[in-house]
Amino acid sequence: MGDCIFCKIANKEIPSEFVYENEHIVAFNDINPTAPVHILVIPKKHVESLSELEDKNLMAELLDGVRLVTKKLNIKDYRTVINTGKEAGQEVFHIHLHIISGRPLKWPPG
Ligand code: AMP
Ligand code: ZN
Repeated sequence: MGDCIFCKIANKEIPSEFVYENEHIVAFNDINPTAPVHILVIPKKHVESLSELEDKNLMAELLDGVRLVTKKLNIKDYRTVINTGKEAGQEVFHIHLHIISGRPLKWPPG
């Protein structure tokens, strides 16, 4: 979609190293990690946010993607985050699931 940075990453218009890829999703390291492990899982198809995600098959692919990525990289304990909307911290409006790991994570996050 237009000038969406995550579409460009998914379409390989911007060179980026994927930690995982299949027909529906790709996963890559966050450019500004908040923990020793900080990976983003995104659909290849442009969907703005969780509020716009109507495709139940794609929902399943994204969540299964988290399972596959953590399995591949042997990540045992991790947090999965989806920020939806500006006030909730969403900065890139192409849905992405954060996988955060490698340090103790406090709850609630604040
Ligand atoms: P959010 O605030 O939930 O929208 O998360 C957006 C995330 O994308 C942030 O953690 C950014 O550090 C990350 N990010 C932005 N641009 C890039 C990029 N080109 N490659 C990798 N991660 C990025
Ligand atoms: Zn996009």
